[in-house]
Amino acid sequence: MSFLVGLTGGIGSGKSTVAEAFVALGAGLVDTDALARQLTGAGGLALAPLQAVFGPDIVGPDGALDRSAMRQRVFADETARRQLEAILHPLIRAEAAARVAASAAPYVLLDVPLLVETGVQAYGLDRVLVVDCPEPLQVERVMARSGLSAPEVQAVMAAQASRAARLAVADDVLDNSGSPDSLGPAVARLHQAYLQMAARKAASPICG
Ligand code: ADP
Repeated sequence: MSFLVGLTGGIGSGKSTVAEAFVALGAGLVDTDALARQLTGAGGLALAPLQAVFGPDIVGPDGALDRSAMRQRVFADETARRQLEAILHPLIRAEAAARVAASAAPYVLLDVPLLVETGVQAYGLDRVLVVDCPEPLQVERVMARSGLSAPEVQAVMAAQASRAARLAVADDVLDNSGSPDSLGPAVARLHQAYLQMAARKAASPICG
């Protein structure tokens, strides 16, 4: 059974940047956002159950989920949001588990942007790594990346778990308030620690 590290952090905290640094050292990576896009893309497994609940028009002419129509449907409708999640989340978890099982890497990072919101227990994680930086830096980095305004970024952040809630579930915290270069040593230290933990788990008669 693979050693599984949940990777999370608020928007713009640097999750993708950190994930790339771990992959460069040999970690496996399963990106749940990418799985969600695949499941709702043309031919995706989530389309039929989503159409059964939300109607055929929720799929666009390109054969993929009409994401902006879906967003509008769930924006102010809590029941619709729960229905969407009840369809998507089990499919994402099943696909993620299959990818993790198929990975030959010594341990796997599972990138789950909304890990705290979804529930840390849902994924069978051995460890939770939170990428953290002060909120003003998140805003600045997302604005630079996306062209969104500060209030737009702040609105996304307000809909996500708070920084404190994320830090409360962390086994490990990676501080990304410095330069990208300063991430290297911290990532390398954690990578070594995860290799050791993975080896211990593999050797354990109970969990191996
Ligand atoms: P997330 O995946 O958490 O949304 P990203 O890794 O995409 O975050 O980072 C958000 C933006 O900030 C990207 O444009 C990225 O290149 C930049 N970035 C990430 N880490 C740093 C850093 N330490 N210093 C400056 N910019 C950074």
